[in-house]
Amino acid sequence: VAPSSTVQLGHRFADELPELAVPWQAAETPEPRLLALDERLAADLGLDADWLRTPDGLGLLTGTVVPAGARPVAQGYSGHQFGGFSPRLGDGRALLLGELSDGRGGLRDLHLKGSGRTPFARGGDGLAAVGPMLREHVVSTAMHALGIPTTRSLAVVATGRKVQRETVLPGAVLARVASSHLRVGTVQYARATGDLDLLRRLADHAIERHHPAAREADAPYLALLEGVVAAQASLVAQWMAAGFVHGVMNTDNMALSGETIDYGPCAFMEAFDPTTVFSSIDEGGRYAYGNQPVVAEWNLARLAEALLPLLDESEDRAIEIATEALGGFRVAYSAAFTDLVRRKTGLPAGLADDVLVPLVDELFPILRSGHVDWTSFFRALSSAARGDAEPVRGLVLDLRPLDDWLERWRALGPDADAMDRVNPVYVPRNHLVEEALDAATAGDLEPVERLVEVLRSPYDERPGLERYATPAPPDFGSYTTYCGT
Ligand code: AMP
Ligand code: MG
Ligand code: MG
Repeated sequence: VAPSSTVQLGHRFADELPELAVPWQAAETPEPRLLALDERLAADLGLDADWLRTPDGLGLLTGTVVPAGARPVAQGYSGHQFGGFSPRLGDGRALLLGELSDGRGGLRDLHLKGSGRTPFARGGDGLAAVGPMLREHVVSTAMHALGIPTTRSLAVVATGRKVQRETVLPGAVLARVASSHLRVGTVQYARATGDLDLLRRLADHAIERHHPAAREADAPYLALLEGVVAAQASLVAQWMAAGFVHGVMNTDNMALSGETIDYGPCAFMEAFDPTTVFSSIDEGGRYAYGNQPVVAEWNLARLAEALLPLLDESEDRAIEIATEALGGFRVAYSAAFTDLVRRKTGLPAGLADDVLVPLVDELFPILRSGHVDWTSFFRALSSAARGDAEPVRGLVLDLRPLDDWLERWRALGPDADAMDRVNPVYVPRNHLVEEALDAATAGDLEPVERLVEVLRSPYDERPGLERYATPAPPDFGSYTTYCGT
């Protein structure tokens, strides 16, 4: 059993970028109690799950017992929030405890959320409630199981502290693992200081951690920008294919690594509709499902702007270089999304674009006009590939365009087994997530545990779990999510 002193936490970020790192410590937790633990992730990180349940282990997971040599910091960053620039956001209620070695030469941040006020807290209380932290645990675990790059939830620990929101709620700390917490907003912050050496050190740190091949490139910082553009194009295509709506794609919530970060008001779309919005504060629909690729591109333009001084000494030339790199986003995104839909529809690789693209494009109006559940449709479609179209016909009202589409699609030889490997049966259904979080807030963890267990194997259909594969009943109504709770 590892005592806390044997957990080795590095402090590369704090050492290399002290201007972005405010040494800080977590608030005391009056009565820590483990609510959720990803034992497999713990094992991957070389952490003993039994030890994590001990008082010392809970101390690590809440930041109250700091391993010898660790130097926890709150990280500084800026961000465009709904289009408006905030020069100083930063970890208001979070801490980077340090970096764990991933055993393959890379680093993984061990980070806490809800660990108390920091110098970046502004008006916030620095705390987090049990419900939202378990929500991040559930949804990020599901995203990982779906194969979508994401920060991971290692554990959620109830603090025993009360948190004042609209009502008084039990508090919790989330222990999160990520390949880094470098954000577009981190680069914006470094740029806004006017300190070019800091900007360069940050870019070098990002290259080292996420895009090591860029170091050997003729123009390493351009290669970094291209690397982030490619990673985000791939990530957002995967969100779109899964029906995932992030909900708060501010530049401080976009990671340079290409991992999904910041599970606040996110949710999975049920009835297909590009205008789908869940977040209570997204009144203009800026972060609607169908806007996500355009917003990602906009955020990457803010990254490119912040990197300009590293791209060329001449600003005009730097802008030309950045514009060309940004142009790669649309191409990469479209190719990635089309390919994912090709796989979801079970079609062979190498189909000519003039066959595949119209077929893909013609599917969406059918789904939209029929308010068809995104996840159920693709899963039911494999039955149609096996010769029984009734499951998918049962989801659509206007059968004429569907039948026509199915006929053209079947002629291309879809592979039903391949479809079942990429189309999940189980995604975090909004009504089930709410039900489970309400139960957990009231003290019953069983629904969350069951839900997580189901979501860990999203492609593997099991008997008795129909409830987890079904959209919300009509009386659930329209779903609203909240950030910062
Ligand atoms: P988010 O909407 O989660 O991306 O958070 C935006 C900013 O608000 C970040 O700088 C957070 O650290 C900060 N923040 C959110 N909630 C709190 C809180 N309860 N206390 C302090 N800072 C917070
Ligand atoms: Mg955030
Ligand atoms: Mg948040």
